[in-house]
Amino acid sequence: MSRVYNFSAGPATLPVEVLEECARDMLDYKGCGMSVMEMSHRSKMFDNIIKEAESDLRKLLSVPENYKILFLQGGASQQFAAVPLNLMKNKKAGYIVTGQWAKKAYAEAKLYGEAIELASSADKTFSYIPDCDDLPIGEDMDYVYICENNTIYGTKFPSLPNTKGKILVSDQSSCFLSEPVDVTKYGLIFAGVQKNVGPAGMVIAIIREDLIREDVLAGTPTMLKYKTHADNGSMYNTPNCWCIYVCGLVFKYLLKNGGLEAMKKHNEEKAKILYDYLDQSKLFLGTVRKDCRSLMNVPFVVNPEVIPNKEERDALEAKFIAESKKAGLENLKGHRSVGGMRASIYNAMPLDGVKALVRFMGKFEKENMK
Ligand SMILES: *Cc1c(COP(=O)(O)O)cnc(C)c1O
Repeated sequence: MSRVYNFSAGPATLPVEVLEECARDMLDYKGCGMSVMEMSHRSKMFDNIIKEAESDLRKLLSVPENYKILFLQGGASQQFAAVPLNLMKNKKAGYIVTGQWAKKAYAEAKLYGEAIELASSADKTFSYIPDCDDLPIGEDMDYVYICENNTIYGTKFPSLPNTKGKILVSDQSSCFLSEPVDVTKYGLIFAGVQKNVGPAGMVIAIIREDLIREDVLAGTPTMLKYKTHADNGSMYNTPNCWCIYVCGLVFKYLLKNGGLEAMKKHNEEKAKILYDYLDQSKLFLGTVRKDCRSLMNVPFVVNPEVIPNKEERDALEAKFIAESKKAGLENLKGHRSVGGMRASIYNAMPLDGVKALVRFMGKFEKENMK
């Protein structure tokens, strides 16, 4: 068996220990003679799986009793509609636009009410997080929306915005469980799990109970009401059983390895190695303002001051991506909308993976700097 270091932004690398456990359980889960993929979601066996996943996640993130944890389908993108449909009582909400995902959520909210851009970092290709201390938040706004870690641009909110008492809704898809967070500061957190937690096809929503309402916007599909899923323990219809099972294994793995404090230390250590290298590199340039750097997604380019010719730069970046792949470092190509390179270094990326990347970058730099 040979495994590569996989820097994909998502679906992304998972802990080997967890994959091995899935493999062991594959044909015969705990002596029941079938795999988790084959069992009824109404079985006792699966009931244990989903209940344990929920309680382990509650423990990991210290989710208070007055918050519900929901396992939903449709990915993080479906939440772009679910949020306004469920929460826009006054049909007015504020959006902080810090990248493509926030932009998509903002555009979706406009279909259902008045979505107002409170701040944006579009002026500098989303390379920073705008100052959010004193935003023009109206009295009648139902919530303030952020994308907390911007997967494509590699920024993260250094601190949460001042919402002036309004409900904070956060898309945490690419930083979920990478460090502890104070859940009580949010009304709703959601995260597509394929970035930092599990396989693709599920989103976890953590929502304060008083925000789970019957009086949602007229025409809201039953499947998009939080109440539907909260009332039915995420089993109104067939949930993504396999994904819930794998996420459950990841939660146990995280608990066993020191929880989110330990994960934060591990992630800071990895990110520091990469950013320290970038900060002294002549050939490569990190694209994000230093105080807004993400611990999870690290975009970089060939420095235009060193190689001013765009075609030459593009060719060198293509060469970097091809050669890194040969060296067992996969998926370092930047998002198709921005180009360049991006290393996603989620929880499951080992320290040795980041060290190997930095060694490779150093070698490439030596060979390609004239
Ligand atoms: C990947 C991503 C999404 C979209 O997730 P899907 O599950 O593909 O819908 C939304 N927001 C952020 C921050 C992401 O990284």
